[in-house]
Amino acid sequence: MNNSYLKNVVIIGGGPAGLGAALMLAKRGWQDITVLEKRPSADYYEPDKSFSYQIDGRGQKLTDLLGLTSQLADLSVPSTEFYLTLIKKDGTRKTSKLPIADPNRKTAYWLPRASFVQLLYQEIEQNWSDSIQVFFQTQCVEIQRNQEDLEIIAQLPDEKQLTFTPTLLVGCDGLNSIVRQTLHQWEQRKSHDFQMLQFPSPSSGLKYKVLTLPPQFPLSEREGDLAQSTMAYAIRSALTGRKQAISLGLLPLKDSSQPRTANIITYPDHQIWQLKTQEEVTHFLKQAFPQLPLEQIIAPEEIARFAASEGGTFPIPQYCSRLAQIWGQPQANQGTAVILLGDAVHCFPPDIGQGVNSALEDVYLFQEILAETQSSAGRGSGADRLGKGSESQAAPLRGGCFEQAQDNLSQALPRYESLRQPDIRALIRLVQISYPWQYNQDLFQKRLWSLNFFGRFVLSRIFSFLFNPHSFLLIQNHELSYSEILELSNRTTQVLFILGGLVILTLLFNLLT
Ligand SMILES: Cc1cc2nc3c(=O)[nH]c(=O)nc-3n(C[C@H](O)[C@H](O)[C@H](O)COP(=O)(O)OP(=O)(O)OC[C@H]3O[C@@H](n4cnc5c(N)ncnc54)[C@H](O)[C@@H]3O)c2cc1C
Repeated sequence: MNNSYLKNVVIIGGGPAGLGAALMLAKRGWQDITVLEKRPSADYYEPDKSFSYQIDGRGQKLTDLLGLTSQLADLSVPSTEFYLTLIKKDGTRKTSKLPIADPNRKTAYWLPRASFVQLLYQEIEQNWSDSIQVFFQTQCVEIQRNQEDLEIIAQLPDEKQLTFTPTLLVGCDGLNSIVRQTLHQWEQRKSHDFQMLQFPSPSSGLKYKVLTLPPQFPLSEREGDLAQSTMAYAIRSALTGRKQAISLGLLPLKDSSQPRTANIITYPDHQIWQLKTQEEVTHFLKQAFPQLPLEQIIAPEEIARFAASEGGTFPIPQYCSRLAQIWGQPQANQGTAVILLGDAVHCFPPDIGQGVNSALEDVYLFQEILAETQSSAGRGSGADRLGKGSESQAAPLRGGCFEQAQDNLSQALPRYESLRQPDIRALIRLVQISYPWQYNQDLFQKRLWSLNFFGRFVLSRIFSFLFNPHSFLLIQNHELSYSEILELSNRTTQVLFILGGLVILTLLFNLLT
């Protein structure tokens, strides 16, 4: 069977960017919004993709607009309450509070990816089900171009296909985006603008796997010595050496009934990736973590799942030069506009926790530009639905369908592309330089990084007119764009080079005279 529907907006991908974009467009008055998501549900638990997000001030621009920040806070552990317990190989422990170095920083919130995506989906279900429809277990399998129209072909779980002909297609389908890849195929004879450009980083290529642990698991044989859900843990192994030493990293979790996830991140040639059977993994973990009562913590079935899992690899930092494409005049309902948001156009290892925040900022900026370029006839007209739970002072948004909304896609998309592109380029550079050595790949490099970080920190405190803190700290200031952060960081690097050069010249001069 092949059903064809005319839809105003089709969004491919129901992750943070996709559901965030659907809510943002619904708030702007778009009515016929379809989200296609290949996973079975919003809160679907995939052990190896069960990482935690830290939604910072940048990501909160969108949750503020959507009126969801207080619900986000209820579901999360705030960064102001982030405590880390280090458990050494002999079982001794040290708990410390994560220092908040930047007082201007907004409280950030830690929660599992599934909980955040579920929060967005719940908002759709409760308040926007008249304008947004989410199809789960539905994969976009092909996009065809028919002159100025695009046909989106989606495969349902029962093998049936649906075809959509949207006015606006939003690609929020992550790193292997079918939307971007299709645009690349169509454009490649003319340019390679929709191809991802890749940049090296010392953390890309690292492998990761996740062990699922029970909620409040025992930390020792002592009765009542249980892990606290809101506490982060770093559990060091007794095994030493580059290919054997390992660490379990657990991020804090508000919901004490949810399982804990322990991340294992290490080099591709580490021994743990060679273990193929349940027995091999059990033996390795017992040797590595004698301080933990492993039999009580990890069920044999979980070890078997872990052994069988392929795990994942940190991606190479990459971005795409083009973010949008227009055929015809979509604002006059003739033709199609395509925009790409989130990981579909910028993807990188999780070193600086900006994956989700940059994706949410994309959506926020897109709405700002839609508001700025909307035709004056539409401004402030129609039923204003911003009041529904909104926490921000955003531009007035209108109800009504697309014709009433009068979002001028032909103006907004090129403007979005020209404004966002420099930030995306800067973000990828920041990922390369900010904290790629945090996974103990090279102790010398890590020490050098620490020296650089603390050096800049101290200098910026004493001579704030000349030096800025390290980019890893600057990123936490959501009021600065990624381009501004990179510029401040580069300026400090230049000053350090000039001063270093002057010191060397003075020493040489003294030596020679
Ligand atoms: C190991 C790891 C750890 C990470 N840790 C962090 C972290 O700590 N902090 C952080 O901010 N970010 C982290 N990230 C990055 C973060 O997950 C992404 O940047 C973020 O999820 C981007 O959101 P998105 O909506 O753009 O894409 P995604 O979250 O990738 O969502 C894309 C969605 O599209 C769906 N989809 C794809 N193709 C199709 C199709 N053809 N049809 C239908 N649906 C489709 C997918 O199922 C998925 O749900 C991490 C990434 C990895 C790999």
